[in-house]
Amino acid sequence: MSRSRTSQDLRPSAFAYRNASSRTRTNVRDQALYCESVSLEALAARHGTPLYVYSTAMIRARLRAFARAFRSIPHTLCYSVKASSTLAILRLIAGEGAGFDVVSGGELERVLRVNRNAAHKVVFSGVGKTASEMELALRSGILLFNVESSSELNLLASIATRLKTPAAVAVRVNPDVSAKTHPYISTGLQQHKFGVPIPDATKLYAEASKHPYLKVAGVSVHIGSQITDVSNFRDALTRVADLVHALREQGHEIRYIDAGGGLGISYEQPRQNFEKQITAYAKAVLASLHVHRLHGQRLNVHLLLEPGRSIVGAAGTLLTRVLYRKTNNGKRFLIVDTAMNDLLRPSLYGAYHEIVPLKRAPRETEITDVVGPICETGDFFARDRQLPVMQEGDLLAILDTGAYGAVLASNYNTRGRAAEVLVDGIRSRLIRNRETASDQIRLER
Ligand SMILES: *Cc1c(COP(=O)(O)O)cnc(C)c1O
Repeated sequence: MSRSRTSQDLRPSAFAYRNASSRTRTNVRDQALYCESVSLEALAARHGTPLYVYSTAMIRARLRAFARAFRSIPHTLCYSVKASSTLAILRLIAGEGAGFDVVSGGELERVLRVNRNAAHKVVFSGVGKTASEMELALRSGILLFNVESSSELNLLASIATRLKTPAAVAVRVNPDVSAKTHPYISTGLQQHKFGVPIPDATKLYAEASKHPYLKVAGVSVHIGSQITDVSNFRDALTRVADLVHALREQGHEIRYIDAGGGLGISYEQPRQNFEKQITAYAKAVLASLHVHRLHGQRLNVHLLLEPGRSIVGAAGTLLTRVLYRKTNNGKRFLIVDTAMNDLLRPSLYGAYHEIVPLKRAPRETEITDVVGPICETGDFFARDRQLPVMQEGDLLAILDTGAYGAVLASNYNTRGRAAEVLVDGIRSRLIRNRETASDQIRLER
């Protein structure tokens, strides 16, 4: 039995095979992949391919699992907008009461369009905030600036003074813990551009506290992305908790700990139990906040969390059609109608995504590469993958593409970006039109 079949059976119900017709008896021959109660084949027929499809139920379930796991401490979930930022997705997440973590003025504008009042639950992260982005954030009344350098602190102070609007600040510290993840998405080591080393942070807090328009409010940390060993979070938060104690002893009011995002999902393994995973994550994050190892008492803080991938990653899939079968010197290729411009993760990180047929039938399997039409050898989705034998015109789903999928899309080769659909139970809604050539050249002159 192929790997895809085995794990597919264990997938959560948001994406599952069902009998295409209720008249036929349960028969693998008739099974088709669904998102909630909507047939993915029907969506591909109506909207074309490539097509991103997201599950409302799964995004909601993940947000609620986070809320349950952290119910023992006052907290705010600030969903990381960069993981998936289509307005309808943000609206769904805001509707669940969550706030947002933004890393640019553009992301903040998206949040404001969804709900002006969401600004008071927005944290602004990133190493390179510009003056105009800071001004927009101050005027909008965001909750917290995660400051990453002394120069940034000075610029923020001058803008806050000019606008006569106090800015609440946390210093993003670099805890010097190594998170075992892809080197491009590990951020918590001293060699990385992110954050301020803990020994230097104290100086920044002292500077900030002297400024009339800066209000010291928290300590923030984010050690990377796609982290599956939760002990990394425990190590980072232990260092943050120590710093909070030290800062309080120096007279700073530290109300917030921002624990960042970074919780990984299982791209390779059959679905792990998310409840179990989130419980282990919460335990690791809360370990040093509930009872501090030196001071023996509970750290009285409001916790901010910035999950991205763990909320939306497994809730999205990318549908594609097989254009051609091709064999070069015995090596097989499936050339599909989606490409690295739609989904960059395999090219950028060598990332693994499970690929399954929309129609499940008992068929032979073969070893093949799955590649896109772009003129780059890096334009691939799978290499030497065992897949059911697919014919030209057949449909495939590239799974777990809800995070860092559509947001990383480009127009390379003047390919329009894919359309996006949000499913909710038996309903589905087009939430982003397929981009046309005219859309792409509109700004050119
Ligand atoms: C990217 C990012 C996140 C979200 O990371 P995930 O791995 O998607 O959970 C959170 N906070 C900051 C500062 C980030 O840069």
